This record gives sequence, C-alpha cells and structure tokens, in this order.
Amino acid sequence: MASNDYYRLLGVARNAGDDEIKSAYRKMALKYHPDRNPGNDEAEANFKEINEAYEVLSNSDKRKIYDQFGAEGLKNGGGGRGGFGGFPGADMGDVFGDLFENLFAQGGGQRGQPRSRRGADLKYEAQITLEEAFNGVKIPVSFDRTELCAECDGTGARGKTGVKKCPTCRGAGRVQYSQGFFAFSQACPECGGQGEVITSPCKACGGQGRSKKGVSINVKIPAGVEEGAVLRVSGGGDAGAKGGASGDLYIEVRLKHHSHFERNKRDLVYECPVAVWQAALGGEVDVPLIEGGRTKIKIPSGTQHGKTFRVSEKGMPGPGGRPRGDLMVKVKLEIPHDLTPRQRELFSELAGLAGHEVPEEEKGFFKKILGQ
Ligand SMILES: [Zn+2]
Ligand SMILES: [Zn+2]
Repeated sequence: MASNDYYRLLGVARNAGDDEIKSAYRKMALKYHPDRNPGNDEAEANFKEINEAYEVLSNSDKRKIYDQFGAEGLKNGGGGRGGFGGFPGADMGDVFGDLFENLFAQGGGQRGQPRSRRGADLKYEAQITLEEAFNGVKIPVSFDRTELCAECDGTGARGKTGVKKCPTCRGAGRVQYSQGFFAFSQACPECGGQGEVITSPCKACGGQGRSKKGVSINVKIPAGVEEGAVLRVSGGGDAGAKGGASGDLYIEVRLKHHSHFERNKRDLVYECPVAVWQAALGGEVDVPLIEGGRTKIKIPSGTQHGKTFRVSEKGMPGPGGRPRGDLMVKVKLEIPHDLTPRQRELFSELAGLAGHEVPEEEKGFFKKILGQ
C-alpha cells in the first residue's frame, strides 16, 4: 500500500467530504487493526499509514496544507505527532464509538480488572429409590471439587508479605503501548492482569490458591422427581480462579428399579398376578401401594389377561402440589403349573364341560396318579 497519497490510501476522492473520509477511515482501520491481524506486519504497516492519512485529512488546516504542498508541506511546523487528543479535529471516540471497545474487549478483559475465571461445573449422578422419589429425600452427595485454599484464602501467597505490586504494570494489571496515534492497552503479561506477583507461594497449595478436596453436601430432592431430572446446586461446583465465581453442581437423578412398580410419568403401573379361576369368577385382589400398605380392588367375572384397572390418585405426586397420578393395575393371568391331583381333576372336568376331549395319555396318567 506504500503510497504517500493520503486520498488513495483511504480510497476517497480528493473532494471527499468529512463524513466520507471518516467512514472510509473507519472501514480501513477496522480491517487492518492489529488486534484483528495478530503477527501480520503488513497489516500493521497499513494501519500506520491510514492513521497518518486520517490524521491529516480529518483536520481542515492540515488538509489545506497537504492539498497545496503534499506531505512534505506538513513536515515543517505541521504540529508534532501527539498521542490521543493531539489533534482537535480527530475525535476518535466519535469515529469508532463502541466498535473499538469491542475490539479491546476481545484483546483481553476490561481495563484494570484482574482476569478472573469462573470455576468448572460439576456433574453428579444420584441413585434413589422410587419411594424416595415419592416422598422427596435429602441425600448426602460426596465428590471431589476444587476449593479455595484455606491456608492462603485463595491468594496463592504465603501471608500478606508473600505478594508484591507487579513491577511491570505498577499494580494496574494492564499495560499500554502506542501504535500511530492510538494507545492500546492489554493485560499485563507479567502478572496476567492481577496487578500483583507472588514472591513467596503458599506451601499448602503451591501458589495455585486452589486445591482438590473431597466434600460431602446434603442435597434435597423434591417429591415427585422424575428419572433423568437434573437439579442445579448454584455455586456447588469448582471454586473460581482469581476471585471468579464458583461453578454449579448438577445432580442427575436416576431411579432404581422397583420390584413392584413401573413409572409412567405421574402414573404407576403394577402388574398384578391373578389366578385363572379368580379372573374367571371375579373377586378381590390385593394391590401394594407406593406409600406403603396395600389396598384391595374388585375385578369382575371374566377378567381378561392384560386388562387394566385404575386406582385414582395412588400414583406419584404431581409437581407443585398438583394431584397425584393414578395407580394402573394390569392383570397378569397366572396359569397354574403344579396342579394337585384334585385341581387336575377339576380342570379336566371343566374341559369336558367345554367339549374338549382330554388326551388318552392324560387320562391314563390321571388314572395312575389317582390310583384308579
Ligand atoms: Zn494456598
Ligand atoms: Zn502486571
């Protein structure tokens, strides 16, 4: 881009107005800004040149001189090259507004703020029984997490004398450097933005300020919690670094298998064994309840396998005090397999009534075992 023609550098016509120059410069400066082109020497050179061009063209006095005599004309008494504010005509805040603030923010945090880091989130899987999910439960959760070192209170330094003001940034946490007539600021490389350096590290944590520790906390799991539900314990995760906030602890709830009930959202399903004669004749069957105890339900004569009966509001609790779900009692017909001789007799009589021939060998078998 090496050219001394300031108009060409900015890509504007010689009669361009102030606004046009401003907007052209803004575009170019953003394109070649060192923060956007790290390690690119050419971009840096271009950036310097367009700064120089804008410095002149944005100032009506200088522009006049430049228009008449060229860059040479400004070398004599054109005014020294100042930093910010050296030229009344060039109001950089006006040109860039918040855009440059964004660029700086990308470059590393806010001015003078230590670069704190939030602690990591942790995940824990909690196994509970269906009864615990029904009643709600407080469970102890034991895990390892990073905590602030108790010895040094997280500073990483041995006592108050273990730190000193950072000599590079003099405690500010940021350092400035100039480029053209811009002053840039970045986190201090010596102290990482802390403003302090540790001269004598804490023995307990080796200067880290944090250490892993086994902890046990009680976590309340609300009644009605569902399989796979995730509870958040705010601030229960790893401690933050350099004064950063703690991470969160996430508890994923797993329900243990239950010997009687399957869960279907707020309903519970109970597979109820019913003897074949009971199903045929009808009667009462005994059903367990999640809250403990049992209840009896009536089944009509001729109940089929798989038929489901609903017991209202004997399921899991609803969220926020909503009514309980239902208990679904699903009939599972049990065909007897170890018949007593008498039962066998009755069944074959039933079979005869229904027009079924009992096989010959079966008859022989009956005779044998019945001693006939
Ligand atoms: Zn320590
Ligand atoms: Zn420093």
